[in-house]
Amino acid sequence: MRTQVAIIGAGPSGLLLSHLLAADGVESVVVETRTEEYVAGRIRAGILEQSTVDLLREVGLGERLDREGDPHRGIYLQWPEERHHLDFVDLTGRSVFVYGQTEVQKDLVAARTAAGQEVHYGVSETALHDLESDRPSVTFTDEHGVQQRLEADVVVGCDGSFGPSREAVPATLRRTWEKTYPYSWLGILADVAPSTDELIYAWHPDGFAMHSMRSATVSRLYLQVPNETKIDDWSDDRIWDALATRLGHGQDGWQLTPGPVTDKSVLPMRSFVQQPMRHGRLFLAGDAAHIVPPTGAKGLNLAVADVALLAPALTSLLKGDAALADGYSDAALRRVWRCTHFSWWMTTMLHTSGDPFDEQLQLSQLRWVTSSEAGATGLAENYAGLPIGF
Ligand SMILES: Cc1cc2nc3c(=O)[nH]c(=O)nc-3n(C[C@H](O)[C@H](O)[C@H](O)COP(=O)(O)OP(=O)(O)OC[C@H]3O[C@@H](n4cnc5c(N)ncnc54)[C@H](O)[C@@H]3O)c2cc1C
Repeated sequence: MRTQVAIIGAGPSGLLLSHLLAADGVESVVVETRTEEYVAGRIRAGILEQSTVDLLREVGLGERLDREGDPHRGIYLQWPEERHHLDFVDLTGRSVFVYGQTEVQKDLVAARTAAGQEVHYGVSETALHDLESDRPSVTFTDEHGVQQRLEADVVVGCDGSFGPSREAVPATLRRTWEKTYPYSWLGILADVAPSTDELIYAWHPDGFAMHSMRSATVSRLYLQVPNETKIDDWSDDRIWDALATRLGHGQDGWQLTPGPVTDKSVLPMRSFVQQPMRHGRLFLAGDAAHIVPPTGAKGLNLAVADVALLAPALTSLLKGDAALADGYSDAALRRVWRCTHFSWWMTTMLHTSGDPFDEQLQLSQLRWVTSSEAGATGLAENYAGLPIGF
């Protein structure tokens, strides 16, 4: 097989890249280990930044998002006895949308299927070759067990944190930074109307809690738990009790309404960056190059920002102008490090570590962010998202 751009991974970064390239007249083929249904069903991110929403609208992917997505002006930050609203629109003129990654993925699949995009699902043994030449290729075994070779002008690794692309950059040329946090998130999805109009981020001596949502009838909630927590140790009742305590059920008359739990998982918290995001004819995008803890709601948005920079860079490269492609890694990493810092900052401000000195610093920081316009604006600007290309 031959194409212009071989894309490894059909998650949001891979499929959006194929969509943006097609709009510029560039052909691509996508290979993916999982099935289409599995990828679309994964419960992950749920908050879209202003620039993600703007881009999706611009490229014809905003219709259902505008109909079914829920625009939010800001978030609540709270600690025992206090809850404060930060209005991002008032502070920065920008806002966010609640629209699940599952929905973004469905919209991408629908658009790419309608356009006849070639996607090979259910592949195995994906391997990258000749990345330092002008004729790189990807080999894989297709879903029927047949060995395939996909030749291309460029290979893009959109294969997330466990794919082979990031390690295809020679060890002597890549540098990585990694931080594992000493806690995880226990996340649930529940068939119950959210008990709040906008997300609640709660600091509590027992640990962080968060009330998010996916729609008017589906809530998404999280609890800080120790690493290595076994999901079986947390019955639904225990989860709802902990959420009620940490989110302040009864405080100023606010009530948390429990409901049937439909999904339950433990998510470790990690920061990771690999640079450069390019080696020869291999480019990395999304989780393949960087991972953030979910507290800042940045993972999916960063993946979108990467491919928004990469698509025009590859289009120019294929027409003989390498300037944007040569600048891609540095340009993407500026935003990656900003979001890496913001995600770390939100995480360390809100998760308890057991250290009483840290607790006082966290509460002081929360009081400042919720009472100073400068503090609130800094959080709002980062949360609602800096423009693509920042
Ligand atoms: C469990 C989990 C929960 C998350 N929760 C949140 C959240 O609550 N909030 C938030 O903001 N962000 C969250 N994130 C982050 C967000 O979902 C990611 O940042 C986003 O999915 C990145 O998109 P991507 O396309 O770069 O990578 P992915 O979505 O990971 O897609 C990569 C794709 O590559 C495929 N692949 C892997 N290896 C190969 C191979 N060898 N050959 C072919 N294909 C391959 C994978 O199957 C996958 O479909 C979460 C991430 C995870 C993993």
